Amino acid sequence: MNKRKPVIAANWKMNKTSGEGVEFVEIFAEHLENDDYGKEIIIIPPYTQLDAVNESLVENDVTDIISLGAQNMHWEESGAFTGEISADMLIDIGCEYVVIGHSERRQYFHETDETVAMKLTAAFKSGLIPILCIGEKREQRETGEMMKVIESQLGGALGGFEEADLTGLIIAYEPVWAIGTGLTATPEQAQEVHDFIRGKVKSDFSATLAESIRIIYGGSVKPSNVRDLMDKADIDGALVGGASLEPGSFFKLISFDK
Ligand code: PEP
Repeated sequence: MNKRKPVIAANWKMNKTSGEGVEFVEIFAEHLENDDYGKEIIIIPPYTQLDAVNESLVENDVTDIISLGAQNMHWEESGAFTGEISADMLIDIGCEYVVIGHSERRQYFHETDETVAMKLTAAFKSGLIPILCIGEKREQRETGEMMKVIESQLGGALGGFEEADLTGLIIAYEPVWAIGTGLTATPEQAQEVHDFIRGKVKSDFSATLAESIRIIYGGSVKPSNVRDLMDKADIDGALVGGASLEPGSFFKLISFDK
């Protein structure tokens, strides 16, 4: 039986003002009625909302139920990197998690496996838990390169680490063709890749790490498809963009099995 605690994370991307983020937390907290529904719930707003959302989590007494995450960070601790944010700054503002290597960062901001690995190192050093995103593009799936791409992204990100360094790491499998497109990988397609990722973690590190690591799926997850995805043995949660923006919809996602 799968004993890993499911993770449901809301990636708000570049959406909402601080006021709207706070309003979301207020309504969502009311829905929760002080129950975590057996899930680890993470809200990942843009940088500008982190402080206000964090305060709202405190005010609504849901810090035991909802954790805060950031969408990105820089690998250096400080210095002349205009426009960037460090891991310690994120911790200072209440973050426990950070998304690293999201496909939109790789696609639009030229992030590479090398910078992803540097960010992972900096995150772990500061005590942030990374949510490492990997996933193939549509043409890579169509030409049968999918597993090679996944293997190379995993190796590029984690190759320099020892097992003991990776405590808490969450891996998000996000097929690029399914992000924000309404196209979802079928539960079978997602399970196939999750199983492959777990197998790689086992062969590169250990069976213990492979059994404990959470591998979550992202790509047009919504209330109508979350249950079938979560039924699969190696799918431990979801990273959700569009369907996490409205509190009622996100509540349905975190309570899909109730
Ligand atoms: C994401 O932002 O990681 C994501 C999966 O987005 P969406 O749910 O909108 O596809």
